[in-house]
Amino acid sequence: MEKREFMYEGKAKKLYATDDPAKMIQYFKDDASAFNKKKLGTVTSKGIVNNAISEVLFKHLEDNGVPTHFLERLDEREMLVWKLDMLPIEVIIRNIVAGSMAKRLGLEEGQSLSTTILEFCYKCDELDDPIINDYHILALGYATAEELAEIKRLTFRINDLMTAFFDERDLILVDFKLEFGKRDGQVVLADEICPDTCRFWQKGSLEKMDKDRFRRDLGGVEDAYQEVCRRVTGG
Ligand code: ADP
Ligand code: UDP
Repeated sequence: MEKREFMYEGKAKKLYATDDPAKMIQYFKDDASAFNKKKLGTVTSKGIVNNAISEVLFKHLEDNGVPTHFLERLDEREMLVWKLDMLPIEVIIRNIVAGSMAKRLGLEEGQSLSTTILEFCYKCDELDDPIINDYHILALGYATAEELAEIKRLTFRINDLMTAFFDERDLILVDFKLEFGKRDGQVVLADEICPDTCRFWQKGSLEKMDKDRFRRDLGGVEDAYQEVCRRVTGG
């Protein structure tokens, strides 16, 4: 697959076109950002780790019937994916209270929930990705009713698969963010799944093993990412 016209640089990745217009390359950077770019930094080898973790998770989800954009990992920092027509929404699953939900509703982090919460945000950096609901999505045409139903079905399925996957690796999947796009009318999982986009707590100690170590200056960011990578890839 021939790279490559540079297409886009985001906060964590660069995108390149390939000689096949249906496919593109995601290049994973070490750049880290939090609080909508108010906090910036780098995490050594983060791109390598996130590419490797995402590969394993996308394959695991595909094997279990979830359509993803993943085609192949090309090298340490590059992944070949289907180029999708992205939906401008972020889908968040919360299994345990943490982060912005704790802050917004005045709750203790770690509080359990009687049922899983699914949230939507409008993907817009200038507006800090504001929280929205189904009605906004339909009224503003961010997705159709059929697409919305499919996104929810896939997201809960992904949560079941990932919760079990991380439980086997002694990690509690606290919450995570997904992005979806469309290809030939089908809703497909996109972007990345890694410690930048999920919260993982070590079973027992509840030690944070994700981007909160960067967000909150807890130290040991690289080590935590490497440890999650070891457990996920088995390497
Ligand atoms: P951001 O744009 O939020 O700063 P990234 O640095 O991760 O985030 O950039 C990756 C961009 O690529 C995101 O905007 C994401 O929505 C988009 N994207 C992810 N997967 C695909 C795909 N398969 N096709 C098209 N765009 C994608
Ligand atoms: N998340 C993400 N990108 C975003 C916002 C959130 O990957 O733009 C992830 C985040 O890592 C966490 C989950 O979604 O696993 C819930 O995040 P939250 O709303 O608590 O926001 P935060 O306070 O982490 O920014």
